[in-house]
Amino acid sequence: MLRPIVRRESRPVKIRDLVMGGGHSILVQSMTTTDTRDVEATVKQSQKLEAVGCELVRVAVLNMDAATLLGEIKKKIKIPLVADIHFDHRLALEAIRQGVDKLRLNPGNITDRAKIEEVVKAAKAREIPIRVGVNSGSLPKDLLVKHEGPTPEAMLEAGLREIEILEDNGFFDIVISLKSTDVRVMIESYRLMAKRVKYPLHLGVTEAGAGDTGIARSALGIGTLLEEGIGDTLRCSLTGDSTREVKVAYDILAALHIRWKGIQYTACPTCGRIGINLEKIVTEVQKRLEGVDTPLRVSLIGCVVNGPGEALHSNVGLVGADKAGTIYVDGKPLKRVPENQIVDELVKTVMAYEEKKKPQEAKA
Ligand code: SF4
Repeated sequence: MLRPIVRRESRPVKIRDLVMGGGHSILVQSMTTTDTRDVEATVKQSQKLEAVGCELVRVAVLNMDAATLLGEIKKKIKIPLVADIHFDHRLALEAIRQGVDKLRLNPGNITDRAKIEEVVKAAKAREIPIRVGVNSGSLPKDLLVKHEGPTPEAMLEAGLREIEILEDNGFFDIVISLKSTDVRVMIESYRLMAKRVKYPLHLGVTEAGAGDTGIARSALGIGTLLEEGIGDTLRCSLTGDSTREVKVAYDILAALHIRWKGIQYTACPTCGRIGINLEKIVTEVQKRLEGVDTPLRVSLIGCVVNGPGEALHSNVGLVGADKAGTIYVDGKPLKRVPENQIVDELVKTVMAYEEKKKPQEAKA
């Protein structure tokens, strides 16, 4: 029997109509890669993120021109808008005036207590939360000296120091992140913080990288913590198309049986036993079923060694053999089709299954 994941208790923090922490759903977020001053492009990318299931979108606020356009962007998107602020507290004040739903402040580059307090007061008046976003690449210099580098203890202290300022001002709608490029430092920093405070934790491996490396690092860092019950929201920082961040985030959540959106595929790596071009079939099927939101399990397996067994735990399954494939539904063989019809038949079967199952849950 699998032991259940016991979530760390955290304080619920409201972000418009969403609640982060307090046992609520672990929220998936991402960040736009556009120049925020280009409202049209930023809105378009935010809407794309929204369409793939992103629940909060963060935008970089580089200067006052960008800050003054946040209200316009917010009006055109449905999900909460988060302003990412560095260096200049006046950008945070303008973002709040523009009506953003949440702020991210970096304790490493806005260090003047009076300026932080000014932002905290404004955020409190508008009832918007602040994420204390500690990053290994921009830790306060004194902590880097004290801890001899960006260690978990340095990350923790940077976070706690900023939290203290917020709490001293009667502000408790706090979310914390402790992102490091080093997966082990990241994991340990969150573990330390999780023991010290009750605020929701935003998980992420910063600058995780491009392609497979970024996905592996994010899955390892974020996944390890989620499996320990730590984490209330996540962002997979991947170089490139940000909709991919959202898809990977849901894959991590689904792999841990936490949240599930769309189809979870099982596919074999193929080997000398393979009797069909499985790689081509997997690629085509995934592409054609991209828009399916209903949680379903689909197994695409190249031969009878593991195929029928996997089909047993799937809503729809394929077992390949000798230039043909048998399609299974709920573990039972439905039909055998020649290889050139496998994709069409699979897509048809999955669509019919989805129609029948909506809005029921997939097999657990
Ligand atoms: S399921 Fe069959 S084809 Fe796929 S890797 Fe295993 S043995 Fe090879």
